[in-house]
Amino acid sequence: MRGLWLVLVLVAADAAERVFTGDQVIRVNVRSEEDLQLLRAMETQEEWELDFWLHPVSTELPVDIRVPRSSLSSVKEYLQAHAIPFTIVIENMQEVLDEEKAEMEMNRMQERSTRSFNFGAYHPLETIYSWMDTLVAQYPQLVTKEEIGRSYENRPMYVLKFSTGGTKRPAIWIDTGIHAREWVSQATGVWTANKIASEYATDASLTSLLNTMDIYMLILTNPDGYVYTHTNDRMWRKTRSKTSGSVCRGVDPNRNWDAGFGGPGASRNPCSDSYHGPSAHSEIEVKNVVNLIKSHGNFKSFISVHAYSQLLMYPYGYSCRAVTHQQELDSIGRAAVGKLAVLYGTRYKVGSICNIIYQASGGSIDWSYDLGIKYSFAFELRDTGRYGFILPANQIIPTASETWQALNYIMGYVRDHPY
Ligand SMILES: [Zn+2]
Repeated sequence: MRGLWLVLVLVAADAAERVFTGDQVIRVNVRSEEDLQLLRAMETQEEWELDFWLHPVSTELPVDIRVPRSSLSSVKEYLQAHAIPFTIVIENMQEVLDEEKAEMEMNRMQERSTRSFNFGAYHPLETIYSWMDTLVAQYPQLVTKEEIGRSYENRPMYVLKFSTGGTKRPAIWIDTGIHAREWVSQATGVWTANKIASEYATDASLTSLLNTMDIYMLILTNPDGYVYTHTNDRMWRKTRSKTSGSVCRGVDPNRNWDAGFGGPGASRNPCSDSYHGPSAHSEIEVKNVVNLIKSHGNFKSFISVHAYSQLLMYPYGYSCRAVTHQQELDSIGRAAVGKLAVLYGTRYKVGSICNIIYQASGGSIDWSYDLGIKYSFAFELRDTGRYGFILPANQIIPTASETWQALNYIMGYVRDHPY
């Protein structure tokens, strides 16, 4: 217990970090189009500084909002005045973040004394990067680490390549953590990479896959943003690039791809969390991936992993019209979430981005699909809002394990359906 208090004191002493004392996360279950309009009006109230974890998009989906302490009374008055019921999901954001940080610190000390890596914990960038070297050293016949370029702040971007030989074999792409604050995504990436390396030669499906195909994993797709969530602002989502003429930094890297760029569901306001950036592929982190995928030229599947909401989605986001392979993608998706549910009963919804979340332009899997990579999918991992972006670390391994069931199914399908 004394250790915990010491850690809390140390955390409080770090003055550079943004605090969320008294901030609450509230949930509104949208009942009508009228509710939806009233919630959308809240999005334009800039002085409230609301952070929409789930935007008001349809009467089918809840709305989650982190409300700064200073706006709580105005927001609650507004909702009550319009008779819109809401529940408080997180009472005091900073308390939850303090616990998360204390847990990470204790884990760090434990890992240091046991000289082991705990897959059930969140880690800073340096720890993940040095773990990658451990993995490569442990499985040198299978795993290599390749730098695909540097981030805006000049951090290396490493892809883990799983290959048993050959050149430019048909390949599967998996990226995690393009949105910085979705920590369970990066943590699932780490667990999954270890799973692939350790199950090769024992898991029959994975083995046959790797005998003819390669897997590429980019675990820290937004390294600058990820570091920033550890050092300055746990709620950071975007890249850290500077925009000329604005005091606000960062571009939403999943609105920055050359796929319906600048269309609906992306913002032109540099201060918005969904700012699409000055031009398609303006973000070096996006450009590095584009260059790799294009120069390789033989990717058959492109999978992007986000959190949260428990969804498995396929293109398009920029348009609500059905893609050519809609039926096939939908049935793969349904089968995959069926596998996922077997472990813990976790339920996922399946559909196109536009139809199950909202119209969102400039997304990665729309770009990959339009490039000709038919099997393009995006996951939104756990949970459905109880913790949202602050998913407790004890859910990392269960989340990654169930997700693996779906991933392994999709990869097996891709192997068996060459094109
Ligand atoms: Zn995301």
